[in-house]
Amino acid sequence: MSAIRTLFLNPPSFEGFDGGAGSRYQARREVRSFWYPTWLAQPAALVPGSRLVDAPARGLSLDDVAPMASDYELAVLHTSTPSFPSDVRVAEALRSANPRLRVGFVGAHVAVAPEAALRASPAIDFVARNEFDFTIQEISEGAPLDRVDGISYRDGDRVVHNRERTPLEDMDRLPYVTEVYARDLVIDDYFIGYLLHPYVSLYTGRGCRSRCTFCLWPQTVGGHRYRTRSAENVADEIRRARELFPTVKEYFFDDDTFTDDLPRAVRIAELLGRLGVTWSCNAKANVPYDALKAMRENGLRLLLVGYETGSQQILNNIRKGTRVDVARRFTADCHRLGITIHGTFIVGLPGETAETIQDTIRFAREINPHTIQVSLAAPYPGTELYRQASENGWLAGDRLVSGDGVQIAALSYPHLSREAISRSLEEFYRRFYFRPRKMAALAFEMLTSASMMKRRLREGAEFARFLRQREGAA
Ligand code: SF4
Repeated sequence: MSAIRTLFLNPPSFEGFDGGAGSRYQARREVRSFWYPTWLAQPAALVPGSRLVDAPARGLSLDDVAPMASDYELAVLHTSTPSFPSDVRVAEALRSANPRLRVGFVGAHVAVAPEAALRASPAIDFVARNEFDFTIQEISEGAPLDRVDGISYRDGDRVVHNRERTPLEDMDRLPYVTEVYARDLVIDDYFIGYLLHPYVSLYTGRGCRSRCTFCLWPQTVGGHRYRTRSAENVADEIRRARELFPTVKEYFFDDDTFTDDLPRAVRIAELLGRLGVTWSCNAKANVPYDALKAMRENGLRLLLVGYETGSQQILNNIRKGTRVDVARRFTADCHRLGITIHGTFIVGLPGETAETIQDTIRFAREINPHTIQVSLAAPYPGTELYRQASENGWLAGDRLVSGDGVQIAALSYPHLSREAISRSLEEFYRRFYFRPRKMAALAFEMLTSASMMKRRLREGAEFARFLRQREGAA
C-alpha cells in the first residue's frame, strides 16, 4: 500500500537537549551527548519514503524545521514530559506552515495522559499510546483514525480513545532501524561520553522484567515482559550495519536490560564474536561470572550498569531486585575480565538521607566503575515513584528540568530538602572524579590516541562548565 508523505520529527527544544526518542532521562547532559532517536526510526522503517529528522542532534531550530511541514501530509513528533510544552509549540508552527498537515504525538508522556495531551493544543490531531510502530504505519497508509488501535484522537470537541493495541510479540517483524539511520541521520552527530565514537545503538528487544519504581519505559511503552528479537535476526542487522557504517567503532544494545535473558545474550555474543565487532550493552549488577566471560570473549567492551545507590534499604524501597553485596562481586568480576563499566547512580530516591548519600558516594568510589553518571530522582508521570510522590507530598514542583533543559531536583522530603539533594550531585561527581587514582586512569586513557585526547579535553571543559553552573545555581 502506498504511504502518505510522512515526517518523523524529534523536535527542537532546549540547546543540546537529548530529548526522548532514544533517551530515558530527557535533559541537557553534563557533556554534550545524544542517543539515537530509535523509537522514531522504528516506525520510519515501516513507512516507505518517510523521513526522520533529529533536530537536537543536527542543531536545527524551530525556524529550520517549520518550513519542512509543506513537504508532508503527516508529521509524527516524539515528545517527553520535560519537552512537551516546547513540542506543542513546534506542532503549532508546523500546522501554521501547512494547515492541512495531520500531526500526531508519540512517547511515554502522551501514553500516560492522552486526553490532557490532546486538549493542550488543537494542533495535535492524535496521540499514539504505548507501542506505536504499526499504529503509525496504518495511519500513514491512510487508515481512518476510528479504525486504528492504540490511539486517542480529536473528533470535534470530543476526545475518542480507541481500544488498546496488542503488544508486538514477534519482534523479528520489525525492520532494521539501521537502514533509517543510514538514510536520514549523520552518525557523527551521536556522541555518548563512555562509548567509542562513532557508535550505533539499537534495541534487540523491549520491556524489562524488573519493576523499579522510578523507571519510565517498562511502566509505560515497554512493559514487564522482555520481548525479544531472535539472536540470528540481531546478528544479521549488525552484519548489515557493518556494510552501512564502515567507520563505526562500537555497537550498543540499548535494551532496558540486555542481560535479562542470559542464554540469549550469550548466544548473540557468540554470533557477534564471529563477526568480530566491538559491542556494549545495558546490564543489571547481578550477571554471573561465566556469562560475563562468554560475552567478554566475544567482543563485549562495556556494560552500562544501573547501580542507583549503595544503600540496600533504598534498593529495596525502589524494588530494584539487586543486592549491594552481589553488585560488589559482579563489579569485581568485570574488573577481572577487563570489562569497562559506566555506572549510573541516582540521588534523592525514597528513603534517601544525608547519610545514605555519603554511603553511595563511598560505594561508588570503592567499586570504582570507569565512569559514572549521577542523576537526580525524577518522578515521571506514569511511574510508581510519581504516584508515591503525589500521595506523600514529596513533589517539589511540577518541572523536571530548568528553563535551559538541565535536570533539577523535583522531590523534597521532610528530612532532606531539594536543595540538599541538588547539591549532593555536584559533591558526588567531585569526590568520584577528583582523586588521584581516577584522574591518573583517565589521563592514561587520553594518551591512548589523539582523538581520545581531543574528545576528553572537550568533555572535560564541558564538565567543568557544568560544575560551575551548578555552583552558581546552588
Ligand atoms: S532494571 Fe533498569 S530498565 Fe529494568 S526497570 Fe529497573 S531501572 Fe528500569
